[in-house]
Amino acid sequence: MEYKSTCCYCGTGCGVIVRKDKMGKLTVEGDPDHPVNRGMLCSKGMNLHYTVMDKSDRLFYPEMRFNKNMPRQRVSWDDAMERTAAVFRTLIDKYGPDSVAFYASGQCLTEEYYVINKLIKGFIGSNNIDTNSRLCMSSAVVGYKMSLGEDSVPVCYDDIELSDCIYVTGANPAWCHPIIWRRVEAHKAANPHVKIIVADPRRTQTCAIADVHLQINPGTDVILNHALGRLLIEQGDINADFVKNHTEGYEVYRESVMRRSIQEAAELCGIEEEELRKAAAHIGDAKGFLTMWTMGLNQSVIGVNKNLSLINLNLITGHIGKPGSGPFSLTGQPNAMGGREVGGLSNLLPAHRDLLNPVHREEVQKFWGGTQISPKPGLTATEMFSALNEGKLKAVWIICTNPLISLPDVRIAEEALKKAKFVVVQDISNRVETLKYADVVFPAAAWTEKEGTMTNAERRISYLHKLTEAPGEALPDAEIICRFARKMGYKGFDYKNAEEIYLEHCALTKGTHIDIHGLNYTILKEKTVQWPLTSVNETKGKGLFTDKKFYTATQKAVIHTVPDENQSELPDADFPLILTTGRIRDQWHTRSKTGKVNKLNQHIAEAFLEIHPDDAVLRGIEDGNLVDVTTRRGQVRVQAKFSEDIKRGVVFLPMHWGKVLNSDLNRANNLTNNLVDPKSKEPDFKFCAVQVEKY
Ligand code: SF4
Repeated sequence: MEYKSTCCYCGTGCGVIVRKDKMGKLTVEGDPDHPVNRGMLCSKGMNLHYTVMDKSDRLFYPEMRFNKNMPRQRVSWDDAMERTAAVFRTLIDKYGPDSVAFYASGQCLTEEYYVINKLIKGFIGSNNIDTNSRLCMSSAVVGYKMSLGEDSVPVCYDDIELSDCIYVTGANPAWCHPIIWRRVEAHKAANPHVKIIVADPRRTQTCAIADVHLQINPGTDVILNHALGRLLIEQGDINADFVKNHTEGYEVYRESVMRRSIQEAAELCGIEEEELRKAAAHIGDAKGFLTMWTMGLNQSVIGVNKNLSLINLNLITGHIGKPGSGPFSLTGQPNAMGGREVGGLSNLLPAHRDLLNPVHREEVQKFWGGTQISPKPGLTATEMFSALNEGKLKAVWIICTNPLISLPDVRIAEEALKKAKFVVVQDISNRVETLKYADVVFPAAAWTEKEGTMTNAERRISYLHKLTEAPGEALPDAEIICRFARKMGYKGFDYKNAEEIYLEHCALTKGTHIDIHGLNYTILKEKTVQWPLTSVNETKGKGLFTDKKFYTATQKAVIHTVPDENQSELPDADFPLILTTGRIRDQWHTRSKTGKVNKLNQHIAEAFLEIHPDDAVLRGIEDGNLVDVTTRRGQVRVQAKFSEDIKRGVVFLPMHWGKVLNSDLNRANNLTNNLVDPKSKEPDFKFCAVQVEKY
């Protein structure tokens, strides 16, 4: 038996063919007909089947404890649901709907996101739903909304082969979006005139094909982008016609970027002026100019400003709404985009409607037929755990994510779960750290054990077949949420199957900019489709804004002028180095899936600290020594790994590891801080002050 599916790791959204033999053994290969990956898979995708076949760490049955002093025990689904509904009802009656919250994941399927969002916003009456996408893409969401009028990625992968200059900043797609990068590499190999510019404090694998590597100091991204903007203006590479007719805000922007000389900007960024000029010349010469970014820009206390300063480069040059051009945020998770479509964050409503807009709230409330939607934005990811600590939030339901590794300054989240009155954990794995604090555990079905849809970074929707049965009594996440909603007595959760949920979501998009009404599983089983759905017969990827009409009130894109100063925790005498955290090639998030696969663990087996030899020698550290990394918040103890590829004064720690052999000294988020961007509420994972000493 064989089915087509989609890789459930990164936002690239590669198509896979999954085969099941008579013994039930699965194999996976890249789908040669898929428009994204054309048969290619990266190391994570090639090993997907192991994560499903290995059931050694799976949760099989619902569990519950009757009070915090008792151990959890196996119970029936009905008992677990009954108790959870009773506790939620009591808390909501006593403390109001904002006393409960759902914390979900960019790995949830669209149908799952949809029902969680509908439940809390439309029936419980709170907007307390946030997801780990807050830690990933929320700065890009705000950046797109502020500049283009809506959270709409204007480009698609086919633009890669139509571009002749790609500026990658705050991203290492060679490791984190490998198949997108294979396409870039192939394009450059076939067209040597294509220029690649990379801005990153580390010389990563992505730099291997870079014509210019701007090895900037962390936190200087806005200064860099402003300097590029200034040079483009001085070179005469502004698209004056586009700027005049289709944007607003240019004059103020021009004045602002002229305030810093190129020499000063280069010094602040820690790069050669000549390199900066070379990069600007490549952009100026481009007929198709793509900007690509991920967490280096988003995960910052000034993440929105970084996004806006980058999008401005596309706007002032008119490189948007035409083939091979545009600002392209590479989504970190497989369905962060689908979550945004259904409004699955604390400040959003379905189909890109705005929570603060009373007309939008009424439209959705009427459609759902539940309670009035509150105009008050809900708690964001980090706010949720602070509110638990303060006692303002009483219960949290955690779905498909492991915040005790992934949240910044993670001890806050640990304390929060200790203090919470009631914690529900819905997951596939019995290894997630949150289980220690769970009052109720719901076992969930994994990839290939349920059907549903996901949307990748280029707005492409894929259907995922169910191929195998979930182990024990595990259920699809959407089914778990609907059972709970029915137990709470809410109408509108009697879906016969996942497609009914999907059709409801599609209907709610009608007339919006992401209109996919008319789409269904029958179409999606045949082919992937990009939103908005204009024709199911499209075969090429499509870009947005080809008519140069943006989704703002004036239909003009907005060139925002933003301050260029960083607001992160600055190094000082006690903590003189800058820590940046990030991903490695063969691990995914908190390793609950990739950590099970021997082949993937062979790449890099344990956490390490990448440090420049000059910084290490100053501290008497040799390559491979155990080192203590400390901040004002905590400590990590890992092996030092020398690298001349990292800027002096900067150290890098991968974010994937949690507890190893009962020690949490591998966990990067012992060190990070709780600063967030004021608009996107995305944490500052890429910058905090640390000291490193030999252990
Ligand atoms: Fe999966 Fe991303 Fe690798 Fe594609 S690039 S196979 S989506 S992890």
